[in-house]
Amino acid sequence: MKSLRTIALKEAQNRVSPEVKAPSNRISEFFGVNVFDKKKMKDFLSKEVFEKLVSAIDQGELINHEDANQIATAMKSWAMGKGATHYTHWFQPLTGTTAEKHDAFFEPSSDGAIEKFAGSALVQQEPDASSFPNGGIRNTFEARGYTAWDPSSPAFIMESKAGKTLCIPTVFVSYTGEALDYKAPLLKALAAMDKAAVDVCQYFDKSITKVNASLGIEQEYFLVDLALHNARPDLALTGRALFGHMSAKGQQLEDHYFGSIPERVFTYMVDFENEALKLGIPLKTRHNEVAPSQFECAPIYEEINLAIDHNQLLMDLMEKVALRHNFKVLLHEKPYAGINGSGKHNNWSLITDTGKNLLAPGKTPKNNLMFLTFFVNTVKAVHEHADLLRASIASVSNDHRLGANEAPPAIISIFLGQQLNEVLDEIEHSRISKKIKEDNALWLGIPKIPQILLDNTDRNRTSPFAFTGNKFELRAVGSSANSSAPMTVLNAIVADQLTKFKVDVDKLIKKGEKKDIALLTVIKKYIKESKDIRFEGNGYSQEWADEAERRGLANIKTTPLALDAYVSEKSTELFTKTNIFSKRELHARHEILLENYYKKLQIEARVIGEVSNSMIIPAVIAYQNSLIENAKGLKDLGVSADIPTGIINKLTEHLTIVKNSVDAMLEARKQVNAVEDTREKAIGYDEKVKSHFDNIRYHADKLEQIVDDSVWPLPKFRELLFMK
Ligand code: ADP
Ligand code: MG
Repeated sequence: MKSLRTIALKEAQNRVSPEVKAPSNRISEFFGVNVFDKKKMKDFLSKEVFEKLVSAIDQGELINHEDANQIATAMKSWAMGKGATHYTHWFQPLTGTTAEKHDAFFEPSSDGAIEKFAGSALVQQEPDASSFPNGGIRNTFEARGYTAWDPSSPAFIMESKAGKTLCIPTVFVSYTGEALDYKAPLLKALAAMDKAAVDVCQYFDKSITKVNASLGIEQEYFLVDLALHNARPDLALTGRALFGHMSAKGQQLEDHYFGSIPERVFTYMVDFENEALKLGIPLKTRHNEVAPSQFECAPIYEEINLAIDHNQLLMDLMEKVALRHNFKVLLHEKPYAGINGSGKHNNWSLITDTGKNLLAPGKTPKNNLMFLTFFVNTVKAVHEHADLLRASIASVSNDHRLGANEAPPAIISIFLGQQLNEVLDEIEHSRISKKIKEDNALWLGIPKIPQILLDNTDRNRTSPFAFTGNKFELRAVGSSANSSAPMTVLNAIVADQLTKFKVDVDKLIKKGEKKDIALLTVIKKYIKESKDIRFEGNGYSQEWADEAERRGLANIKTTPLALDAYVSEKSTELFTKTNIFSKRELHARHEILLENYYKKLQIEARVIGEVSNSMIIPAVIAYQNSLIENAKGLKDLGVSADIPTGIINKLTEHLTIVKNSVDAMLEARKQVNAVEDTREKAIGYDEKVKSHFDNIRYHADKLEQIVDDSVWPLPKFRELLFMK
């Protein structure tokens, strides 16, 4: 019988890409055609309801029942006009993927059948909450949960060959109101940010009434041929190769980054981009990444809530469209040991309703004080809550990246660039002159910040959180993550910090200090207090790990420990004060994240056991048998059998270790499974089960290098990574 690997290799070699055709040569002609955006709302709604909906979108105003009915009818007409037969509430449960439950517009009635979509069905639905992760919330309360319409993210039509579905972005909460998803807390954090930032903006510009956080998400991913992927149970079940010796050629020649995109991949990219553009996802950039078969795409930044919905939708599209091209897209943070992993850089800034980016240095000193206010408060917030930011990016898959000398380290620090560092140092050490009367003279104390920063492009790639000219870039987010988790935290901590800032400044003003001097005094104090979080050097180096330890910065390498920050006293205070999470919600979330961690390790451990026992060991034994035959034959001829005997011994040596370690891992798993406490269990999985993985793999990979290539069952790294 031919092995799956052989069949897969043959299939992969004979791929023909499907025909891909854009709806038009001009993207502007089909951009957003599948979105119920403001322009379409205007066409389908009365003027009055349209205006109410716009203020619901922009200001968060509530929509009454009657208006909801009109909006639902409008959505239905638009969607049916485009061929949709069903609708669904689209939400982001804590499983990490998106969820949908489709209902037909169609309803039988006494005289035949009609298509219906009531306002109540638009506004709220009740999916069964008990089948989604809920961290124990449903056990003590009602099992029900409901999804509720988020008007700030427009409805859209998902197309597939068999039909079209109207999707309505929603939050997902328990019947008692606790968030069971990623979106609800994000929206709360954004509201907190809006309020805090607008309040602080009043010091500078009274016309500002709204501050939106913006996000541009760079998405890295790997592609692998579908047949080869399916011939590897580890890739298929866990998203990463649990075995596999690095191919002789990896990324050492650095010949992939920004290289020309292979034709088959290019066709795929154009295909999913077209689908994304139709859904209003403003994709702009595509290129090869550092590792072979690794790529990146990035849209233009948008308001955070929308940017994250778009990223979730994009990941979904990428996976679906890949299948049409006989590709599998790997969004895992580290599919292949030995080459770079994948991240999801989160570019974040704050933008006012007057169109000002609060993190862009201004032309005039006055603008610079405004910039410095938001800039320094961000630095201070990260300094205060670095542990929480670390927790927000923690996952079993991101653990492979953080601190592995190719991604940001597990130590949270901020890179500012030389110029801004100097500016902050100068402010820290200068004296604020209070004597000077005229307004202008004060500004002499503020160093000039050129609008275009020199080192804007000369970026430190090793920093987890870097200032890049007019935005901060959080690089530590994993490629498969929902950005809501880190963005909820980032906006929450900065909002909280801005609120404290206002209190501190107002105190000084009350004491009779001039406003600008009060602002500068507090900024100076914050610069001093948050100094330790700033680091400009090589984040991958051991020197930094040592230095960070001296500074008292945390370096937490594993998820179960990193997650503690979610339930610390400090975080609980922050989240309850800002109304983002209740204590109960925090504990539920903590529990869910820990469960997710150990369950994924449990699956990996099972796959390692199964592949070792049923694929690797039998292949080794088969080869060993042929060597035994060979040795016997040689002996019969009176010729030396040293070579086959030597190989047989080597095989036996590695085989023994693989078998014994797999057995030991199984024992450890049984022990840890008996642990009741979720946190202890997660730690147990890390320390007692996962600790076997590397050893098993090391010896299995040695065997891969010795065993006859034609009997090796798993597609090898060179085949996975260099198929074109
Ligand atoms: P890089 O050089 O890091 O690969 P780019 O310069 O292409 O990245 O930008 C990355 C992302 O940052 C893009 O999505 C871009 O739209 C986004 N971006 C640019 N300016 C801002 C901003 N002010 N706020 C948020 N995101 C931004
Ligand atoms: Mg970037």
